[in-house]
Amino acid sequence: RVFFYLVYKRKMKFDIITLFPDYFSSPLNESLVKKAIVNKILDITTYDLRNYSKLPHKQVDDSPYGGGAGMILKPDILTKAVKATKKTGSLVILPDPSGKKFDQDLANKLSTKEHLIFVCGRYEGVDQRFREKYVDLEISLGDYVLGGGEAATLVILETIARLIPGVIGNTESLENESFSQSDSKLLEYPQYTRPEIFEDLKVPEILLSGNHQKIKKWRIQQAIEKTKRLRPDLLP
Ligand code: SAM
Repeated sequence: RVFFYLVYKRKMKFDIITLFPDYFSSPLNESLVKKAIVNKILDITTYDLRNYSKLPHKQVDDSPYGGGAGMILKPDILTKAVKATKKTGSLVILPDPSGKKFDQDLANKLSTKEHLIFVCGRYEGVDQRFREKYVDLEISLGDYVLGGGEAATLVILETIARLIPGVIGNTESLENESFSQSDSKLLEYPQYTRPEIFEDLKVPEILLSGNHQKIKKWRIQQAIEKTKRLRPDLLP
């Protein structure tokens, strides 16, 4: 069994280029992600972008050509940082409002890669030429503007990490989750735990029946109804 585990144990490497490495210290040191790091399933390194600047005060940004508000991260410094960690097969990701909208399908695809490099934008963003030359994929969390790419990186990283074999103990919990079915996209059915009666609400009788076939059917029906009500756009 140990041999089987060693053969199938897959490791994924995440490198994060950021102006705020400390931003990640607590989230990467908690719960599932921490356990996966300890178990050597995840290897996560943060790189301080300022360390790649030779300018006075380790400056990493400059004002936009053509004028306008804010500062732009410089392409030469971003490139130096990426080159410090990029290998054959690495995928360079820039979280950005103009990127591909992040969803479970994209997380599934990315979870099969061995090495992801996240470049966290700040201020008014990054120089266009850096995007064109070195970014493989831009990902947006949604149609809103965050202060930086760090929060987006954490969301993307955590979503991918829990799909890697061995990160979540019970893989069954992944199969039934919202958005995770291969043929259709449904929200998860409602879940209940003890106590059996909470305030004036009782757990649905069927869940106490012990009839697993009927429970399975009920849960599918509930998932379809919930999706119709809350997210009809997910249904074919
Ligand atoms: N000026 C940029 C624009 O209008 O698109 C916004 C820059 S934002 C203040 C700074 C950084 O936050 C971006 O470079 C990006 O890395 C990150 N960011 C902001 N919103 C995001 C979103 N919806 N999804 C992913 N990353 C985002």
